[in-house]
Amino acid sequence: MHVFVRDWLSSNNVLLKSRAGHVLIDSGYSRHAPLTLALLETPQGLHGAPLARLVNTHCHSDHMGGNAAIQARYRCPIALPEGEAPLIDAWDERTLLLAYADQSAERFAYDEVIRAGETHVWGDLEWRALSAPGHDMGALVFFNPEHRILVSGDALWADGFGLVMPSEIDPRALPATRDTLQMIAGLDARVVIPGHGAPFAGVAAALEHAFARTAAFEADSLRTARHALKVILSFALLDRRRLPLDGMAAHVERVGIYRDFNARYFRLAPSDLAEWLMSELEKARAARREGDWLVPA
Ligand SMILES: [Zn+2]
Repeated sequence: MHVFVRDWLSSNNVLLKSRAGHVLIDSGYSRHAPLTLALLETPQGLHGAPLARLVNTHCHSDHMGGNAAIQARYRCPIALPEGEAPLIDAWDERTLLLAYADQSAERFAYDEVIRAGETHVWGDLEWRALSAPGHDMGALVFFNPEHRILVSGDALWADGFGLVMPSEIDPRALPATRDTLQMIAGLDARVVIPGHGAPFAGVAAALEHAFARTAAFEADSLRTARHALKVILSFALLDRRRLPLDGMAAHVERVGIYRDFNARYFRLAPSDLAEWLMSELEKARAARREGDWLVPA
């Protein structure tokens, strides 16, 4: 097994090697596809060997954005969670958080679906697929009971989890997040390979942190909404490298998720929402203003 630890624009890529065929879990963001392909050709990667299968934990742009490029290069089948298949069939840009969240992915065709409860042998290890809704309602995580390794996608990171929709937008999301954390706690995992950040062994501490964050979100929808918009803007900034300050008001007026959340939660003039978001990112040291631009800090 080799984990290519990436950043916040591209998810980690987990390569499970076997003489029976190599399997890759998650493909990164579309902008990083050339880098993903280059990593796969390193000695820790496939190094010229074929790829037998590409699997996705869920279908957000930073996990499936390299699917089309990998499919074109390796001609391998793509397997994705059953719950994501209808969204990919319809290329539902809203639910997949693509154009709706100012993100993009090249469209691809999948070949297989993975259902919760199935066990697959990848890299000579048995991986049980477990339903992990919340951040993404169709997500799966993969658990190897023998070594107690969990490939968690965005359901659990060392310091939180992927953004969750506030209850007025999707009433299922936060209860599902709590249930998924509960399910993960019951696995007694020894090591977690998250979708972002390095693999970690402090699973109990990560769960404690994640439960606390869930409780804070449950207590305050506005906080959940604010968090989601900050995550979306940080992502856009990593994607574009810089955003023009004088275009920010138009940006939050144009992109669906800002527009919808603003109408429901904040009711600010677009320029005020943009100013608030930028100052929040500056406070969090995620961004800074440089001349006429907002840039990653
Ligand atoms: Zn995600």
